[in-house]
Amino acid sequence: MSTLRFDALKTSMNRTPVKYDVDINRSSIYGSNVFDIHKMQNFLAKTTYKKLLETINKNHTIQRDIADQIAVAMKEWAISKDATHYTHWFQPLTGSTAEKHDAFFEITNSGQGIEQFEGKQLVQQEPDASSFPNGGIRNTFEARGYTAWDPTSPAFIFGSTLCIPTVFVAYTGEALDYKTPLLRALNAVDSSATLVARYFDKNVRKVSASLGWEQEYFLIDKSLAISRPDIELTGRTLLGHSSAKGQQLDDHYFGTIPTRALNFMRDLEMESVLLGIPVKTRHNEVAPNQFELAPIYEEANLAVDHNSLLMDLMKKVAERHHFKVLFHEKPFAGVNGSGKHNNWSLKTDQGVNLLAPGKTPMSNLQFLTFFINTIKAVCDNEELLRASIASASNDHRLGANEAPPAIMSVFIGAQLTKVLGELEGVTKGKLSPEEKTDLKLNVVGKIPEILLDNTDRNRTSPFAFTGNKFEFRAVGSMANCANPMTVLNSIVAKQLIEFKAETDELIDKKGLKKDEAIFNILREYIKKSKAILFEGNGYGESWKKEAKKRGLSNNKNTPNALKVKIDPKTIELYKCLNVMNKIEIEARYEIELEEYIHRIQIEGRVLGDIARNHIIPTAVKYQNILINNVRGLKDIYGKEFNKYASEQLILISDISKYIEAINSEVTNMTDERKKANIIEESTKKAQAYCNKVKPLFDKIRYSCDKLELLIDDELWPLAKYRELLFTT
Ligand code: ADP
Ligand code: MG
Repeated sequence: MSTLRFDALKTSMNRTPVKYDVDINRSSIYGSNVFDIHKMQNFLAKTTYKKLLETINKNHTIQRDIADQIAVAMKEWAISKDATHYTHWFQPLTGSTAEKHDAFFEITNSGQGIEQFEGKQLVQQEPDASSFPNGGIRNTFEARGYTAWDPTSPAFIFGSTLCIPTVFVAYTGEALDYKTPLLRALNAVDSSATLVARYFDKNVRKVSASLGWEQEYFLIDKSLAISRPDIELTGRTLLGHSSAKGQQLDDHYFGTIPTRALNFMRDLEMESVLLGIPVKTRHNEVAPNQFELAPIYEEANLAVDHNSLLMDLMKKVAERHHFKVLFHEKPFAGVNGSGKHNNWSLKTDQGVNLLAPGKTPMSNLQFLTFFINTIKAVCDNEELLRASIASASNDHRLGANEAPPAIMSVFIGAQLTKVLGELEGVTKGKLSPEEKTDLKLNVVGKIPEILLDNTDRNRTSPFAFTGNKFEFRAVGSMANCANPMTVLNSIVAKQLIEFKAETDELIDKKGLKKDEAIFNILREYIKKSKAILFEGNGYGESWKKEAKKRGLSNNKNTPNALKVKIDPKTIELYKCLNVMNKIEIEARYEIELEEYIHRIQIEGRVLGDIARNHIIPTAVKYQNILINNVRGLKDIYGKEFNKYASEQLILISDISKYIEAINSEVTNMTDERKKANIIEESTKKAQAYCNKVKPLFDKIRYSCDKLELLIDDELWPLAKYRELLFTT
């Protein structure tokens, strides 16, 4: 083993778990570092508190004097918790979070130092953010953007800094972040779902989307990770022969969590709970060193913020435990990748989950209404939903027989399939009293019981109904959930607007009763949404053929998947819902393509570097040892040496063969990169990276991995798969 690798391995094996005994009752510290509703109530005057609640619940803009009072309270609270700085915390389109800390500290006119924080600093800031991706929006004369307080996501203290969740927009009004369109989409689904929910309960005033994400990740020992430039720079291994033992024995899944990992998790959970992230579930995942963490679901905007915050927190806590956490969707070839299931539902301000059946036929009709509208929305916008989860890293996972395919479909289970079948047969127009009774007793009335034993779960489906929510499983582990959540809530919002209009028309113009009208519309929706419903094996080859027949898209890579984002239909959708305008849509498309190009470009450079500067020199070193050995044998045995050196001679020539292959493929790859780099148009450039550059990775890797098997373990410089995956 090379000294470098040996040292790394020794360090990792000798690590004692970071001691972690502080396991206090979580409920007693939950949200301690969050300026939540309860703390606001304590720190604010009654009238101010009331005005703030109005702002939050009705999306009103905050008045300056109220903002001043809140700022003072926030500062008092933060200082009482030893915070010294504040920051506007936002999610630019880099995919991570951004912050710029300012001290509360100010100097008065008379030269005295004081701690100060005012409404204007709370409400708006102007970070010098010209280096964030903007897709050309801010390349014009108006180059500035600002951050603005999002009062629906509470401020929190991270380290010694008060973090204020904000949106990030250009002065010309265009969104430059993930949160702004998400908030607009949530607003859209709120208004349309509220109108529909009021068919069933007149008291409904607000509907909010809920999100429960499940974060998968790998933990790798820090010292081993450092020995791998690919992991350090790209978040995944670009080469490495598979370990003799991988996940074949299924002995990791739900197994005993290794002590070091468990201590990390306990530490992480405590920190999360302090920040108000309601983490609940932890377990081993399928691959060795792969784990999952899931919280109790929350309102979608807050849940998105919490996921971003958690990912930051995980990196920090991992450092304390000498781990590197990998969020990449496919850090290791041949081993299970990581996803981030997005569990989604809609909830009224009356506390009713609109995607859960109720106790009365009316509440079940409500359930069916939202259930079928969601299916229809997915059916009509399957390609856009696919685009919402497209990324260079998620391309490795989708369709690779471990994660849902790149084809979107909805799984609802045998029982609900039967219910839809029955609803499809509902008479057109007015229903007879007998039919109404039958529907009430035998179809709608039976739904709660059906769902109780609806246990068949199809893990191959990208979008599955799981009893009281839909689970969007194709989301990648590295993704910001805002992207898929913006699309999902937008398409459902649009669908519900159409549903409301069509139903009202039947009521007003055709004189149908409300439930008759609803049954009529749902029947048509079921007929129109058949293409998207699929209960079979999503990994199977036959599904690909079948899906093609049904007209479903199958965009296997990101450049192809993204195209629909600038389709006139998409632009119209976002425009009519006020989620994004054409400029914002096109800018985002550019940014995503650019990100794709950069990721593949970086991977290409790193791979070329490792192949030429690590692998080839190692191979040459070993080959020289062999050559010396053969020479020695020749000295001893003369002409007879062949008999004793046959294996060595084969090795020498094999090594030359692989070195040559690596060399020529790396040169090819560099040439293809050069060709791609001069392409001006981003779509074509991304396609060149996808179709010309990326395929060469596998060829280079193939030869490198072969050499790993041939070369003396003592010389091999990079931590091997078995070391990366089996040391914790
Ligand atoms: P699993 O999918 O692993 O079997 P569960 O079905 O219990 O686990 O829940 C998974 C996730 O779904 C959790 O993060 C949970 O908070 C979330 N979840 C549960 N109910 C809802 C809901 N109504 N809306 C959104 N997310 C939900
Ligand atoms: Mg799940």
